[in-house]
Amino acid sequence: MTEQIVSLDVTDVRFPTSRELDGSDAMNPEPDYSATYVTVRTSGGAEGHGLAFTIGRGNEVQAAAVSALAPLVVGQSVPELLDDPGAFHRRLVNDGQLRWLGPSKGVIHMAAAAIDNAVWDLAGRLVGKPVWRLLAEMSPEQLVSLVDFRYLRDALTPEEALDILRAAAPGRAERTEHLLAHGYPAYTTTPGWLGYTDEKLVRLAKEAVADGFRQIKLKVGADAEADARRLRLAREAVGPDIRIAIDANQAWGVTEAIERLRPLAPFDPYWIEEPTSPDDVLGHAAIRRAVAPIRVATGEHCQNQVVFKQLLQAEGIDILQLDASRVAGVTENVAILLLAAKFGVPVCPHAGGVGLCEMVQHLAMFDYVAVSGTTENRVIEYVDHLHEHFTAPVTLRDGHYLAPLTPGLGAELHPASVADHRYPEGPVWRESR
Ligand SMILES: [Mg+2]
Repeated sequence: MTEQIVSLDVTDVRFPTSRELDGSDAMNPEPDYSATYVTVRTSGGAEGHGLAFTIGRGNEVQAAAVSALAPLVVGQSVPELLDDPGAFHRRLVNDGQLRWLGPSKGVIHMAAAAIDNAVWDLAGRLVGKPVWRLLAEMSPEQLVSLVDFRYLRDALTPEEALDILRAAAPGRAERTEHLLAHGYPAYTTTPGWLGYTDEKLVRLAKEAVADGFRQIKLKVGADAEADARRLRLAREAVGPDIRIAIDANQAWGVTEAIERLRPLAPFDPYWIEEPTSPDDVLGHAAIRRAVAPIRVATGEHCQNQVVFKQLLQAEGIDILQLDASRVAGVTENVAILLLAAKFGVPVCPHAGGVGLCEMVQHLAMFDYVAVSGTTENRVIEYVDHLHEHFTAPVTLRDGHYLAPLTPGLGAELHPASVADHRYPEGPVWRESR
């Protein structure tokens, strides 16, 4: 009998990160980093793991959305899934009733992300390859078949996508070798959480440079004087040659963002991330025009490929920050990488959270090998939290992500970590009450 998906389990997993203010920023002062954790199993005994990242309360809502989508997955033939993942993805995001909850945005879309990621993890395990490599060894035609062009065609046609992938094809083997030898550049957000003291900021910024990072990031957007002071301290700590990105996490209106950035400009911030509402495409364009040469970056809350298309069309961003579980998983991110390549905008993925570093490295590495063909001005975010809970945690060396060799997408949690952090019945949460 043909191998089938026989079950989909979803678990509400939460880590009490708010106790140390790890992850604190202008809009999310006390996050408990959480995962809506999905495991699919096949009749042949194979597993795939994926997740959507949330920051605490509401993770049960995210889990309920995954459960609502489960009937679209359970019973699927595995060979059919692997043969045409694009078709599966289109069914997942276009269910005749569930689509009403989006379409293609918010909780229901993130649920599709967790499932799509789990299916790609399964696909990688079944062929014994990390997902970056699985993608990078697909033909241009197979990759283009992943993309739903219905709402993209005015900005990117299938023929243009094929041209981008074919142009990159001759260098794939050489870039794979380079990636395996040297890894992919990273930057670190660890020094810059808003809840950290000045002393901790300075110490961690210096440590980051000593560890080989060429870029760090600071949270801004709460108190204006504190923003200037912290950025000055960070600049003094790292010197003029290290890039410092700043991240307002949507704290400002459009005019306010422009005004708040003016006094920060002397400290040479490399990019301003999420200066305003993630939905305000024209607002990003206005900010970008006003604050150049500071680059404008966004994407971790960009709800789907259509909004990314508009941000690119409106010249609203200099840096595209795709996210592993905000849009509907690996499949939609392939489309977003192709859009970015068409518009010549570098992709610097959002990571941190729970498992985002583990997953998103596959997308950036695939992009380098088979899409954009370059790491110039491209870095993957790195945050040093919670990796110990994963069975195949990221490995960094001298400010670079080393290419993962473990088959799959990297989102598998240790069973003991799941048991300890299940909400609300896990011991970590029971003992806190
Ligand atoms: Mg951010």
